[in-house]
Amino acid sequence: MNANGTQTPQFATAEYAANIPAGNCATCKKPISGAYFKIKGAPICAACTERIRAQIPRDSHGAFVRALVFGIGGASIGFALYVAFALATGLIIGYVSLAVGYIVGKAMHVGSRGIGGRRYQVAAVLLTYFAVSLSAVPIAIDQSRAHHTQEQSAAAAMQPVAPVNVGKAIAMLALVGIASPILDLQDPVHGLIGLVILFAGLRFAWQFTAARTVNISGPYTAASAGAT
Ligand SMILES: [Zn+2]
Repeated sequence: MNANGTQTPQFATAEYAANIPAGNCATCKKPISGAYFKIKGAPICAACTERIRAQIPRDSHGAFVRALVFGIGGASIGFALYVAFALATGLIIGYVSLAVGYIVGKAMHVGSRGIGGRRYQVAAVLLTYFAVSLSAVPIAIDQSRAHHTQEQSAAAAMQPVAPVNVGKAIAMLALVGIASPILDLQDPVHGLIGLVILFAGLRFAWQFTAARTVNISGPYTAASAGAT
């Protein structure tokens, strides 16, 4: 594994390798001479460090946009999952928000091909929060519709339909949905448990999209044969 295709350094350092405290490069196993670096405490020669640095994925606008597209897709799946689960079982289980956080975080991680960072984390947390909180809207609509059809289907049919500003109604519902995790605190125990689980889901999303950094320390100088 030599990126440069040169074998010269090996011959040059082979004779006095035993005298060099830095030892061998943890990556290419060749004896280290001159400047070297450390990654997780292991000595890495200058050539390998350069190669590793070049391989670290760089944050870019394209990566972030891809992560957002994947994240929105993940949030939509999470939203659908949450609603489907609640409608199928009749239960609103906060634990689904863990799955939503996982799906959103994972999707963004795949979308960016592993690139993370603060803006990815903020986006992942917002998408997870929106997916979970907005799921309260279709669930509430379904519940109230079931309620209506049971008790007052005849009366409702007779009443003239009030003119409704659809856009305004949707905006209101969205606002109520976004506030729903807080509004749930009207029932303190249930609301608090929901918030704690939601927070755990948000943490999933946050951790998945964290920056993956490689800590390279150095350069250090390996003692030459003459100095020791
Ligand atoms: Zn090396």
